[in-house]
Amino acid sequence: MSVQVSKTAPGKINLFFAVGDVQENGYHPVASLYSSVSLLEKVTVSEGISQGISQSISIAVESPLAEMAASGAFDIASVPLDEKNLAYRGALAVIDAQGLSVEDVSLHLHIEKAVPVAGGMGGGSADAAAAMAAVNEYLVRTGVVATELSGEHLLELAAPLGADVPFALQGGISVGLGVGDQLTPVELSEAIQPLHLVMVPASFGLSTPHVFAELDRGRAVGDYPSTNGLEVPEALLEALRAQSAPIARICEIARYIENDLAAPACALAPELKKTLAIQHEGIISSFVSGSGPTIAFLMDSAESAHQLEAALKRKGRFAVAVEAPSRISF
Ligand code: ATP
Repeated sequence: MSVQVSKTAPGKINLFFAVGDVQENGYHPVASLYSSVSLLEKVTVSEGISQGISQSISIAVESPLAEMAASGAFDIASVPLDEKNLAYRGALAVIDAQGLSVEDVSLHLHIEKAVPVAGGMGGGSADAAAAMAAVNEYLVRTGVVATELSGEHLLELAAPLGADVPFALQGGISVGLGVGDQLTPVELSEAIQPLHLVMVPASFGLSTPHVFAELDRGRAVGDYPSTNGLEVPEALLEALRAQSAPIARICEIARYIENDLAAPACALAPELKKTLAIQHEGIISSFVSGSGPTIAFLMDSAESAHQLEAALKRKGRFAVAVEAPSRISF
């Protein structure tokens, strides 16, 4: 029996995202409050199907959510199938760290996408994280190496692949400083219920670098204010940890939701303002997810989330109810 290893990693939302001014190295320092959501990317590693040709890591991508594919939120054609794919880069980082070279292996990565592509939900980063975890186990199970890399080692390898990759390896809820890669997990008591949100992807993607560039352009001419400080408000963390009545807790969390990329994302895609203005029973707050264009609706309950999802689908709009953080283990 040939060995197959599957691992999952979650998409994310940013409940808070403050962006500092661009540095000389081109990076933006951030203060982020990440939460995983219950949309999981799955990467399965198996024996390569491209032996004999130069590429020793082959990639296939599919979306099990046919509805999402039909909505345009899953634009399979825009996902690279070569070394530009973040899953490839994740796999390669593990292979390198094990002292191997890409010619030493023959792997196939099968990616099942549940997170919208270029949606501001870190789908590619989740693919990188899932591929790292899967290849790490695969190399040991197939006897290529004796010992798996530690979790800490994987985290170190993840940061250079992209600011969101370390979080995708960990999941849960975390404060992210630096470029988002310096993580401090926020521990919540078991008794605390996850938040319920409805994610509404757009039928187009937004490039994260373009949204940051629009922020820089706008700040230079005074269209957008500079951030006051790069800190996740303590009051937001307290609200998350609060054991108060669910609705009081959700309303308190909603007071602090903020995203410096919302205005530039809306400037690049003005139709997002229409989605943000959707009214429905149970919506506590609506906000742009990360660099957009996915819009997140924070709901008062799971029931309201499912009702909004159904109402939007009846209107021909793709929507998906999620929990944050994800309770599904991965
Ligand atoms: P983030 O919020 O982390 O900035 P995103 O969720 O907006 O990212 P992704 O879906 O991660 O966007 O991908 C953005 C671009 O990265 C895609 O348009 C594609 O060209 C490229 N890409 C590379 N690898 C992948 C992958 N495995 N899945 C999707 N896109 C990928």
